[in-house]
Amino acid sequence: MSEQYDVIVIGGGPAGYVAAIRAAQLGLKTACVDMFAGRDGKAALGGTCLNVGCIPSKALLDSSRQFHNLTHSFAVHGIKADNAAIDVGTMVGRKDKIVKQFTGGIAMLFKQNKVTPFFGKGRLLAERKVEVTAPDGGKQTLAATNVIIATGSVPIELPFAKFDGEHIVDNAGALDFSETPKRLGVIGAGVIGLELGSVWSRLGSKVTIIEALPDFLAAADADVAKTALREFGKQGLKIELGAKLQKAEVKGDEVHLIYAGKEGEKQLVVDKLLVAVGRRAYTEGLLAEGTGVRTDERGRVEVDEHCWTGAEGVWAVGDCVRGPMLAHKGSEEGVMVAELIAGKAGHINMDTIPWVIYTEPEIAWVGKTEAQCKEAGIPYKTGSFPFAAIGRAVAMNEPAGFVKVIAHAETDRILGVHLVGANASELVAECVVAMEFKGSSEDLARIVHAHPTLSEAVHEAALAVDKRAIHKAN
Ligand code: NAD
Repeated sequence: MSEQYDVIVIGGGPAGYVAAIRAAQLGLKTACVDMFAGRDGKAALGGTCLNVGCIPSKALLDSSRQFHNLTHSFAVHGIKADNAAIDVGTMVGRKDKIVKQFTGGIAMLFKQNKVTPFFGKGRLLAERKVEVTAPDGGKQTLAATNVIIATGSVPIELPFAKFDGEHIVDNAGALDFSETPKRLGVIGAGVIGLELGSVWSRLGSKVTIIEALPDFLAAADADVAKTALREFGKQGLKIELGAKLQKAEVKGDEVHLIYAGKEGEKQLVVDKLLVAVGRRAYTEGLLAEGTGVRTDERGRVEVDEHCWTGAEGVWAVGDCVRGPMLAHKGSEEGVMVAELIAGKAGHINMDTIPWVIYTEPEIAWVGKTEAQCKEAGIPYKTGSFPFAAIGRAVAMNEPAGFVKVIAHAETDRILGVHLVGANASELVAECVVAMEFKGSSEDLARIVHAHPTLSEAVHEAALAVDKRAIHKAN
């Protein structure tokens, strides 16, 4: 007899572990199967986000930012720091400690909530049975009334620039360089390329980012992308748009690149190459015969708006299904599914999922861009406000960027808010709330914002929609 659960979650990343905790909170007997191993070979819950994604990259972004400020912008404050140096080993060690603290934290939360963890690779069999293969090859079979698939995603590998873990690396490799590479090549000016490119550039790497698309950050609002590109250029990040990598060859301790740029074929020699051209759903070896679960042409598990796969009692959430590959989207899907299983009204609003890129300045947005409004034929008006006119931003020596509010031309309902500037990652939260509550730009404009804060830029941008910003000409 297989051990029987109400819910088995396959995958312990932010979608899976959150689903497991919520299911257990709701009184369901829950297990979570996860195969991620830490440096010590032991189970490390938290998936990509905690182990090699969101959290470690933020740790390095913070360390490198401190160093960059010390060497580049402290002088304006009258702070002198000659001969500043960075010890990369200490920086990476601090990152590892933070990761360990948080993966251990999830194990503790599982204990507190009575979620049973299983260390190994999960495979869904027919009739909601789950086979778990432990790292030593040992197998056991569990059974459940409901199975939630949350197996996440893996980096896309380019056939002509295969990861070797040493010179050509993915996001995980670029978090663990033992020293600052003199020259770093990055393929893909997406979220990972920009964040990790920023880390090493701040520490002194000469960073060249090669992006296939002609437009920079095509998913962001065009004005935000333009400002960001200018600011990144000032920081020394070299971004080549409309450039396609053709070949990457490791020669000795160097990587030789050939790519087709706007002005024809180009060559570049770097010490390390980070390939960050997107991620794909990780569903290999997941589904046995007869599960009734389908995958699409990109290997993603097919689901409806409630993350139900169409097979009785089988659900799928997070990066392995459609929608943006964002930890917070996966977590909310996990909560929704756990609540639906428990007979509650689970829901997620895909129209108000915030996006954040943790560069400097930070980039964040929620809702539609101007281009999307135009394409959908929605009449709209906009208001924007620069951080350069916000006292707090200037006092912080962070005057770059702006906030732009897009509202419906007739109803004034907020359609989108786009931010590029200091703390944009935090400021976007207010805009998400406003949109979730179906707010208008007038609502944001009439809310009292503390002075002096960066949030005044959101307030002024909302006022600017109807040309009544106070601290700029309308
Ligand atoms: P991405 O989709 O953000 O960017 C990949 C970029 O690579 C795109 O701009 C694409 O045009 C370009 N590209 C693709 N093929 C190329 C080629 N052959 N040559 C040159 N350029 C090429 O993907 P990513 O940065 O790898 O991130 C993966 C996923 O992880 C994304 O879905 C992202 O949302 C998520 N993520 C999110 C965060 C965050 O929320 N801050 C951080 C890291 C990762």
